[in-house]
Amino acid sequence: MTFEGLGLDAKLVQATDALGYKNPTPIQEQAIPVLLSGTKDLVGLAQTGTGKTAAFGLPLLQLISVEQKFPQALVVCPTRELCLQIVSEVELFKKFLPGMHVVAVYGGASIGMQIRDLKRGVQIVVATPGRLIDLIERKAINLEQIKYVVLDEADEMLNMGFQDDIEFILQNTPKREATWLFSATMPAEIKRVSRKYMKQPIEITVGKVNTANKNIDHQFYVTSAHHRYDTLKRIIDFNPGIYGIIFTRTKADAQNIAEKLTREGYDIDALHGDLTQQQRDKVMGEFRERALQLLIATDVAARGIDVQGITHVINYELPDDVEVYTHRSGRTGRAGNTGICLSIIHSREIGKLRQIERIVQVPFHKLEIPSGKDVCRKQFFYFMEKLLQADISHGDYESYVPMLEEKFADISKEEVLKRMAAMEFNRFLKSYENAEDLNVRERVREFRTEERAGARQRREPASSQARSFRDTRGREFNGNGDYTKLFVNLGTKDGFYKASFLQFILDMSDLRKEVLGRIDMKEMNSWIEVDRNAATQMIRSIDGKNYKGRRIRMNEANSR
Ligand code: AMP
Repeated sequence: MTFEGLGLDAKLVQATDALGYKNPTPIQEQAIPVLLSGTKDLVGLAQTGTGKTAAFGLPLLQLISVEQKFPQALVVCPTRELCLQIVSEVELFKKFLPGMHVVAVYGGASIGMQIRDLKRGVQIVVATPGRLIDLIERKAINLEQIKYVVLDEADEMLNMGFQDDIEFILQNTPKREATWLFSATMPAEIKRVSRKYMKQPIEITVGKVNTANKNIDHQFYVTSAHHRYDTLKRIIDFNPGIYGIIFTRTKADAQNIAEKLTREGYDIDALHGDLTQQQRDKVMGEFRERALQLLIATDVAARGIDVQGITHVINYELPDDVEVYTHRSGRTGRAGNTGICLSIIHSREIGKLRQIERIVQVPFHKLEIPSGKDVCRKQFFYFMEKLLQADISHGDYESYVPMLEEKFADISKEEVLKRMAAMEFNRFLKSYENAEDLNVRERVREFRTEERAGARQRREPASSQARSFRDTRGREFNGNGDYTKLFVNLGTKDGFYKASFLQFILDMSDLRKEVLGRIDMKEMNSWIEVDRNAATQMIRSIDGKNYKGRRIRMNEANSR
């Protein structure tokens, strides 16, 4: 099937050609003909990476009138990153449609600038819900003439507590002719919204909903806890062309590892909750332009990142939730490309890994951590390949040839090559000269684990409930399974849902998930059960800090 065959105008087909899209993806093939009618509602069950932006973006551009200089289409999506991503794709699709304008409006940026942008006569508005409501209330945007509403990543928007805002938007678009909803999952609330606001929507499902992408190879390396960093470094060195994201549980880890690797000469920076929007944009910009080869991030900070061509996602530690794992791994293997999601695990985490494997339903491959020799050989081949591929077609290289020939007249070709290799390799050869084996051999490990478990049983009376915890800096303290309840003035209105909230408080307090009991989230506030012995550390690290310009208040619930 071709884009032309789907009924798209020549100018849009020209744009897909210019982008190098050879064939429509499955969702485009199914959705575009339906959407071009302009009157049919659609529910598309598809994850990012399936090409859904083009599936709705191209039909929108065909249906909208360039002559009419007011908003005719509204795309609502959960995050600022996604908002910008959609706009930049639509910009490319509309390359051959002069007079067509699209604008992004999202929170956390100057509203004045966005109001000015809106006044320029745009036809398509891509917005996050909160900022859109703000603009409606200020009468800076008029939804009267909106014909098409697209809800992208609808499940994510509802998870983040935007349900009322979405309904408000749907209720305030009186001329709406079609509503297109895209979602990775189909929870009951989405069904309810679609029943209430959509007319017999056509349902399209692409791939298996909520399972891992088959283009991703899942790999893991088993090492001991104190070799985690060295293993990471070795894996990076073993993949010279890597363009990847490393995930850590805590921002402290993200920052420390980024600093260490930078000192050792790697192009890496960290993305975490403490950065200002400006710093965050800078890091993301450099990563996108590939000035950075690696990005290290916590899950919260990496929310909504969509970067093309990621070759590797690295789990510096396994996340606790399968959902978080799938989310992380989904950053690679997009749009039909293949990708690798690899995890560095401790021998005790094998059980957890197998559990994730069962749910994701794809086999995970255990790989040997490369030896120092392997790394050097790999780097050597990479260097030779680079040498052969070097572009010498530009510049005045020819004019230097006589000088070079004279300079190297007495040295053989072999010698020159050796010297070039030495320059490139000294670093690797030196650091890998006596490199140790970082693998933990499983048979030995299983025996030891059993032995240790036996010893523990002998020491501890069966009734003992005592547990010992470690925080992320390795400090140990005893817990007794006795929780205290903490109040915090953050809730779903702040853009959190449970998993991200949990990660946020753990990141802030440098504590591990084991210290938490139940979490009860409301719109404005939440209540967290935390082990009594970890409560002080949590309050001390969170109470009084700022979140999006607001002071966080955290205290013991019954002390108020
Ligand atoms: P999305 O699911 O919209 O986030 O799209 C994921 C990526 O796939 C984007 O970078 C698109 O540029 C790319 N893409 C979309 N449609 C096609 C296509 N038909 N062929 C190749 N790449 C595509």
